[in-house]
Amino acid sequence: AAAIRFDRVAKRYPAGTRTADAPAAVDDLSLEVHAHEVLVLVGPSGCGKSTTLRMVNRLIEPTSGRVLLDGEDVARADPVELRRRIGYVIQNVGLFPHRTVAQNVATVPRLLGWDRTRTRARVAELLDLVGLPPDRYARRYPHELSGGERQRVGVARALATDPPVLLMDEPFGAVDPVGRRHLQDEFVRIQREVGTTVMLVTHDIDEAVRLADRVAVLSTGAHLEQVAPPLEIVAR
Ligand code: ADP
Ligand code: ADP
Repeated sequence: AAAIRFDRVAKRYPAGTRTADAPAAVDDLSLEVHAHEVLVLVGPSGCGKSTTLRMVNRLIEPTSGRVLLDGEDVARADPVELRRRIGYVIQNVGLFPHRTVAQNVATVPRLLGWDRTRTRARVAELLDLVGLPPDRYARRYPHELSGGERQRVGVARALATDPPVLLMDEPFGAVDPVGRRHLQDEFVRIQREVGTTVMLVTHDIDEAVRLADRVAVLSTGAHLEQVAPPLEIVAR
């Protein structure tokens, strides 16, 4: 697993932001994510959480500052290499609708030119890991799955090359509350097994408490208010 460091990172979009008094989406953020830990970013909608996450895998380039992966500036990393090293899971998963579950999970291995035997074995292993037995699920299409099952496929796909880092943006947001609780428990189990470094964005405090080793609380402009161990919610 790898450590991530944000070193005085800022992102200003040309159009500014929704909040008039906050010209930058991310403003002078310094933050460390330790190897193997689950760091959860919380904060109000529009405060810059997704922008922060997407600067790690270079979907967004910072305006200033640096993002370091194991000490190396990601701006200098090869984009294909970054894809292999960083898994990415988003709310509506973005599965390819005309590809089967197995084909979706095999996306990055194929991109990297793995041979059939290796890919097949890895796909089967991942589907078992996320609780979708391959004999029942490999040949289904995304529309033949429940929301929670689709989310599991998204996680399996993100884990295909055993990436040291996993970025998750509201990963369980589209799942009903009961299914979400189940997925969160599964996530904790999988995370213990694979030991990936995880950065996860949510607006659900309850989810943050359940999943996080540490919680980073952000305000507008992705200003870091505090990093704390998750607090127990005693009343809601
Ligand atoms: P969060 O994930 O906390 O909801 P975002 O990172 O999505 O916040 O957005 C932070 C701010 O940047 C918001 O004001 C949003 O409108 C703005 N923003 C996000 N993406 C873009 C974009 N591609 N172009 C312009 N402004 C954007
Ligand atoms: P293709 O797209 O080449 O016709 P398939 O649809 O059969 O191939 O499978 C896509 C990928 O998923 C391949 O890498 C294959 O090895 C893998 N795969 C297909 N079915 C299974 C299965 N039941 N268990 C594990 N992996 C599978």
